[in-house]
Amino acid sequence: MSYPMTTSTSQRISFLCRFLSPSSHSLPPASPSCKLIISLVLLMAVISGARSQTPFSQDSAAAYLRTIAVEIGPRPMGSPNEQRAMEFALTKFREFGISEPYILEMNRAGGTSGQGVKNTRSGTAVGVLKGTGDRIIVIGGHMDSSGPEIPGANDDGSGSAVVIELARILSQRKNESTIVFALFGGEEQGLRGSRHFVEHFEHINRVALMLQVDMANGSDWLVPTIEAKHKSSPEWLVQASYEELEKLGHTGLYFPTHFFALMSAVPGGGVGSDHQPFMEKDIPAIDFTSDFRDPIHTPQDSYENFNLAGLKRSGDLVYRLVERFDSGVPEEKSGQYYLLQFGSMLFFIPLWLFLGFIAIALGIAIVAMVRVRRRRPMPEEGGKRASIPGLKLFLLMLIIQSFVWLSENVVSLIKGIRYPWLANLDGYFLLGLLAGCIGLWIGLQLAPKLRLRTDSYSYYVRAVIFLLFFLIGCAILSVKLALYPAMALFFLGLAMLVRRPALKLAFWILSPHFMYRLFFSEGFDFLARAGHASPEIGLGWSIVLHLLYILFFSLWSFPFLLGFAAVRLDVQKGFTWLTMFRTRWGVIASGGAFILCIVFLLTQPSFSEHWRQLITVEQSFDLDSLDGTVTVKSPEYLDGARIQFGRIDTILGRTCSATLGAVRDSGDPWLKVERSIETVESDSSTSVSLLLRVSTTHRPYTLRVGFSTEKNSLFDADSPLGIVKSDGRAYLSWYSFPDTSLLIPLSLIIRRGARLDELVEATFVQEAATVRLEKEGSSVIRRTHLSKETHLDLKQ
Ligand SMILES: [Zn+2]
Repeated sequence: MSYPMTTSTSQRISFLCRFLSPSSHSLPPASPSCKLIISLVLLMAVISGARSQTPFSQDSAAAYLRTIAVEIGPRPMGSPNEQRAMEFALTKFREFGISEPYILEMNRAGGTSGQGVKNTRSGTAVGVLKGTGDRIIVIGGHMDSSGPEIPGANDDGSGSAVVIELARILSQRKNESTIVFALFGGEEQGLRGSRHFVEHFEHINRVALMLQVDMANGSDWLVPTIEAKHKSSPEWLVQASYEELEKLGHTGLYFPTHFFALMSAVPGGGVGSDHQPFMEKDIPAIDFTSDFRDPIHTPQDSYENFNLAGLKRSGDLVYRLVERFDSGVPEEKSGQYYLLQFGSMLFFIPLWLFLGFIAIALGIAIVAMVRVRRRRPMPEEGGKRASIPGLKLFLLMLIIQSFVWLSENVVSLIKGIRYPWLANLDGYFLLGLLAGCIGLWIGLQLAPKLRLRTDSYSYYVRAVIFLLFFLIGCAILSVKLALYPAMALFFLGLAMLVRRPALKLAFWILSPHFMYRLFFSEGFDFLARAGHASPEIGLGWSIVLHLLYILFFSLWSFPFLLGFAAVRLDVQKGFTWLTMFRTRWGVIASGGAFILCIVFLLTQPSFSEHWRQLITVEQSFDLDSLDGTVTVKSPEYLDGARIQFGRIDTILGRTCSATLGAVRDSGDPWLKVERSIETVESDSSTSVSLLLRVSTTHRPYTLRVGFSTEKNSLFDADSPLGIVKSDGRAYLSWYSFPDTSLLIPLSLIIRRGARLDELVEATFVQEAATVRLEKEGSSVIRRTHLSKETHLDLKQ
């Protein structure tokens, strides 16, 4: 591995040498000591500032971003806009002297599990900057945005703009490595462009390093996303990124350990980007993502809401990494570790250490159990014993958690808003904690009436059993997740082993910390807002969800309540604060703080420029009856929304969804399906050859053509287009904006005599009937669905 000197460094040093040499004419003569001081100052400037400048121009990247996100606009996979943005990138590549840039076309896009293949017209815009050697470094971003109303300025117009600007500045540098600039399509649909790229790019075996820029906002963090299925980016790459960013003088590189530990449990990895298909091919790769708590995947991901300083930060970093690894990369292709960051210090904890730690935690739990059991007082003969202390305590836990999770509803009710916390999550987090204190106080009043057992052991043993269940459950999902209940076991064990009450309490306080950190992690905002994003959740589901939250977090917190009881019963002194909290002053203090917090939150706005109310206007038509309905939906109440539809002008009341009534298609056929069928029968099966022509008035946003038959009756289905087969059904789907006329050939083999139904469904962003909608602080999404079901007559 070598660290080539940058052009700017060598320029500065040669300037310094010239100044120090006696033949320098450009500067006035100076005394030797003065000369020494000036040279020292200059030398320091060289050392500290040499690397803080790269030729990356923020203004020029901002201009590319403006073109992509404002002039071109939303760019879902396969859309003409995605194509236009890629053509723009190619034009720029050519301008920078990159010969023959091209689009690696993708007409059928395989997806991650469960998403199936989609027909599309997408690909990857590729610019190849030839180096002197054999090695290739790929610099990537994704051109697509996540929907037809989403400008994707941050996600990932910004990354694409950074890649284009890097093409400009790197084309002015002599590189040993060949640098491939890749702007992928279809990232938002399941990394489809990059998956296709790693399978079809002819020199993929020469790729030594992949650097992805997915989101380059300057609002807060720059997050290295380093994980793919079962492996992470190599340590040297992560380490180098931190070193280079620090040398550059930028700040904000931050790895949210707990958030990614939780994400590691989500099938498919939760959050991801185009570097992952490379990592799965054993190519060292890393992605830099800016703060994922920004309003991405919403119409507010716009140029106006974007902080341009992030372009320079990400661009400088990638530029430095290219310089650093231009002449070679270390051997190690990937890593397996748990990354912890304290300030700018990094700790790569190998996963085998986890197993060791889990064993230690279990050992401590067992030793503590034996010790506590020995200390246990003999049960009194004939004395009354509560049979299952666990169940009664669990009831108390349910009370506390109900207070926590229902607290926001108090503000909701007063404000008349369902999700009052979108713009101010921290305030509602505090409100939940204060409400939990009130719940705890009530629990403490009830506790003496429950006649609970008084031996510490009964509680501790149950806490350990609960934590063991969590440990096994987490370990099944991911090794990294298992650390969290292990930490709880470890600290709770220590709390039982030590004798000093203060120390006991300190260890007990530490015991739930890590398990809570998983959910109330760095990504808490992201998770909370993502949960709100789906417009389909009605009041009923909302109640079910609240009950599930209360139940889940009661279970999750229960071992610590048991643990507290065990600690409390193990020492009789040192809990005066609890006795004090138990008096009426406890409820007065927490209740007072709770009310103050509510008053404060009532004065705060619930929506902002970044977090607006999302409203969907949906029109659905059945093509046979020509009847349709128009529905307005939102996760939030629609009250005050002014709607003009046909001759009706309404202001809606408190509801989340309103059906505006039936409409009739004007007779203009939005969707027409014509087909020719040929059938050949054999003893047990019928071969059906179909040629379908689907014509639409507008280019559809999504299109799906499906065939279904009785159970076990579909033997085979085939088409030169991408087709998905699943029990008894076969379908083809398009995304997005294919042509207004599509010719679809396919053949099916079904059981002889079975019935065959065809269903064509199309979604448009155009409206069948004009619906005007006004509501302050909202963004509106419009969709028209058409469907046509046909029973196919095979006896021709
Ligand atoms: Zn993205």
